[in-house]
Amino acid sequence: MSLCHYLRFGIFFEHIIGIKNLKFMSKGKINVAVENIFPLIKKFLYSDHEIFLRELISNATDATTKLTHLSSIGEIKGDIGSPKIEIKINSKKKTLHIIDEGVGMTIDEVDKYINEVAFSGAEEFLEKYKDTAQDSGIIGHFGLGFYSAFMVADKVEIITKSHKNKEGGAHWTCDGSPEYTLIKSDKKKRGTEIILHIAKDSKEFLEESKIRELLLKYNKFMPIPIKLGTKEIDLPLPEGADKDQKPEKKTIDDIINNSSPAWTKTPKNLNEDDYKNFYRELYPTQFEPPLFNIHLNVDYPFHLTGILYFPKLNNDINIQKDKIQLYQNQVFVTDNVEGIVPEFLTLLRGVIDSPDIPLNVSRSYLQADGAVKKISNYITRKVADKLNSLFKKDRKSYEEKWNDIKVVIEYGMLSEEKFFEKAEKFALYPTTKGDYLTYAELEEKIKPNQTDKDDKLIILYASNVEDQHSYIKSAEEKGYTVLLLDSPIISHLIQKMEGSKEKISFARVDGDSIENLIKKDEDVVSKLSEDEKNKLKPIIEEVVKDNGYTVQIESMDSKSLPFVLAQPEFMRRMKEMQQTGGGGMMGNMPEMFTLLVNSNHNLIGQILKTKTTKKRERLIIQALDLAKLSQGLLKGEALTKFLERSLELIK
Ligand code: ADP
Ligand code: MG
Repeated sequence: MSLCHYLRFGIFFEHIIGIKNLKFMSKGKINVAVENIFPLIKKFLYSDHEIFLRELISNATDATTKLTHLSSIGEIKGDIGSPKIEIKINSKKKTLHIIDEGVGMTIDEVDKYINEVAFSGAEEFLEKYKDTAQDSGIIGHFGLGFYSAFMVADKVEIITKSHKNKEGGAHWTCDGSPEYTLIKSDKKKRGTEIILHIAKDSKEFLEESKIRELLLKYNKFMPIPIKLGTKEIDLPLPEGADKDQKPEKKTIDDIINNSSPAWTKTPKNLNEDDYKNFYRELYPTQFEPPLFNIHLNVDYPFHLTGILYFPKLNNDINIQKDKIQLYQNQVFVTDNVEGIVPEFLTLLRGVIDSPDIPLNVSRSYLQADGAVKKISNYITRKVADKLNSLFKKDRKSYEEKWNDIKVVIEYGMLSEEKFFEKAEKFALYPTTKGDYLTYAELEEKIKPNQTDKDDKLIILYASNVEDQHSYIKSAEEKGYTVLLLDSPIISHLIQKMEGSKEKISFARVDGDSIENLIKKDEDVVSKLSEDEKNKLKPIIEEVVKDNGYTVQIESMDSKSLPFVLAQPEFMRRMKEMQQTGGGGMMGNMPEMFTLLVNSNHNLIGQILKTKTTKKRERLIIQALDLAKLSQGLLKGEALTKFLERSLELIK
């Protein structure tokens, strides 16, 4: 067992056997406030070791925040300067130093706040100054953070001087056993220095690159400037200088963090560029700028600020690496927002900062937590409101963005009922002609022409303008509107729309003949008699039987193709739904096609009249190949044969 392990268990053990700490002695035993023991165990046993730095910097930040707060309410007189936090590495002595210029501690305070594990000075401060300090951004909470130092150090020292006493500071040392020493120190400057004697198995924390990495991960947006060494910069050349002239160098503090990130500011003080620049700061490797942003800001019934960005997504719903980051009072906590943000919004990027999310509990608990549910609902509502206002304010630009944002919106409509209702106003249905209609507009436009004989509104759509060109053309020739719906999850959404609206039905244009897709009362007259149809069917079936098609004689428009291959809507949709999650057992079904034979096309009459079997067969195969060709299904040997036959014909 390592020393720090010993400390972890040791301090609990000491308490359980009832050894009390003796106040104001230079030697004593660390005391644990027992009711908080379980979160303490949990926190230490389940956390990454690297979080020690975040905890110590959070304490240094709190100490500085307290100082500025006390100064602002007049409890501290005089100039407090511009306090910063400094991180130093001493490779020779194998120590890591976290130095702040905050309130510091008196000997009594060290005894109270440090020697009593699980007693939070942060909470006490908030309680004492609850009228003024509620929004001061104090991070500490559980009174546990400090001891995480022992996860990486086998000895920890605190050298501190309170802003209160002019003379005398305190020096606390603990080597990982429950015994500590607490003596006076001659520290001159106000503030606290924490010295970690890094343990052998944690040597990585003596490397500057590792510390820099951690600071950038957890502390990039913390409110107090954090210095890690110095750096050299080029001074600007004086005016009129020779361009070959070397700029003068200057050594400055290397400040790691941006202490006032965009999300902490008032939206009205930010412009588009500020938001874009902050996006780049968050995701330095993202080349493409975001489409737009949503600034979140709520005080009641919970605290939450943040900025969400809509990235350009196209149809890509694959897991992305640049995720939404979650902060608590500007301290990075995690980029796993599962359970906090509704799933469809995890496709977005940005930051959420809320002190009210109980992150030390399991994710499944989070989902059931009332406060978290409220946060999730709030975010959903804000996103819906923003989309609505973008749509209303500048419809044209919203339409231009539609293809890049539709996946998120359609996903949201599918998964969140509230969002589905709100999206009625801003979800768009693009047509193959390049118009973008809301559902209400679509309905108004197609109602007169696309209501079938059973009073059902038929919404025609295509998934690919190129592949389904001939079908789209047939529909447009009848004056119908065809939507272009090509998202990967569209079949699920269509299914949901049909379920939630009265008497509507979506039909993909290649699902059947256009006459069958929208059945009207007036029957198209057939050029063939029933007898002729009955004779024709087996002839065609005989020739195409190897393809496995169902043959159907239809009275279609004489301008339509002689043969049309159709894929019934229901089967195709089920299959698609299964491929994108859910939808039953259809995944392994083969593609099913119906061969529609247009009894009104001249060629069909000709087939019927032809006496020689050979010639008849050739006509049928040619017509079938044309149908396949229009679906992009003619390939390989069949295509070669088709070309040969076609050449033969024009010879
Ligand atoms: P918490 O931050 O949740 O209160 P910690 O264990 O991190 O718990 O710290 C315990 C207490 O020790 C703090 O609340 C604070 O009163 C005191 N403390 C720790 N670090 C510092 C520091 N750098 N300056 C002043 N006080 C500190
Ligand atoms: Mg703390």
